[in-house]
Amino acid sequence: ALRIENLKKSYGTVPVLKGINLAVENGDVVAVIGRSGSGKSTMLRCINGLEPFQEGSIVVAGHRLDQSRANLRDLRKEVGMVFQSYNLFPHLSVAENIMLAPRVVKGLPRDQRELLVRDVLSRVGLAEKASAYPDELSGGQQQRVAIARSLAMKPKVMLFDEVTSALDPELTGEVLKTIAELAEAGMTMVLVTHEMGFARRVATRTVFMHEGKIWEEGPSAQIFAHPATPELRSFIATDL
Ligand code: ATP
Ligand code: MG
Repeated sequence: ALRIENLKKSYGTVPVLKGINLAVENGDVVAVIGRSGSGKSTMLRCINGLEPFQEGSIVVAGHRLDQSRANLRDLRKEVGMVFQSYNLFPHLSVAENIMLAPRVVKGLPRDQRELLVRDVLSRVGLAEKASAYPDELSGGQQQRVAIARSLAMKPKVMLFDEVTSALDPELTGEVLKTIAELAEAGMTMVLVTHEMGFARRVATRTVFMHEGKIWEEGPSAQIFAHPATPELRSFIATDL
């Protein structure tokens, strides 16, 4: 579904990604962990075409993105991304938030848009909230609407960047449960998370980033039970 080859990115003269190689198969759920500043968000933003990069390539569903950025539009259609801040449009209802891109970008007719809203809202457990406005929802519910909005574009890969870190602990669980259900349903996902227990339980693979490199990766059970490097050992010890 997704292949990253020798991805290198610098801000000015500061290298941030130093040759990332990663292959994500259909149905994989990959957790990305690592210290602040290790390059996790930058990698996701490159995958989504939000950040240009200096070397290497990213292939999603057969569309190759490189320095030329020629295939940017094709690639972005295949990738959904949800951030820490959900940025719903406050003056639009939940249904309107979800329908906006399918209408504007894909020209989807009204009857199909309504079916789509019902489908994606049921997948995030909010079927009854279609006509609500964002400020009538909890933070966890708003984040689930943001996930539904992203699903409405039918991406091949979903990217999540610390989607629960702005939420109160009691709201974190419902969002993680939604993501776990998407995983169960076979959605291909790459998620940056500080929730180590969640990574261990839900992710098929875990990637540990350190100083702009994939320092260690493997099946999540192995990464957490048998970290091979001192860097990962100390990260797990301080972060749990
Ligand atoms: P965190 O866990 O804090 O979110 P991260 O692993 O997501 O960290 P990144 O946000 O990818 O880290 O940042 C990686 C490095 O790139 C950091 O050293 C950061 O200061 C730098 N960086 C990120 N964005 C920019 C930018 N727009 N301009 C310059 N440097 C940047
Ligand atoms: Mg980050």
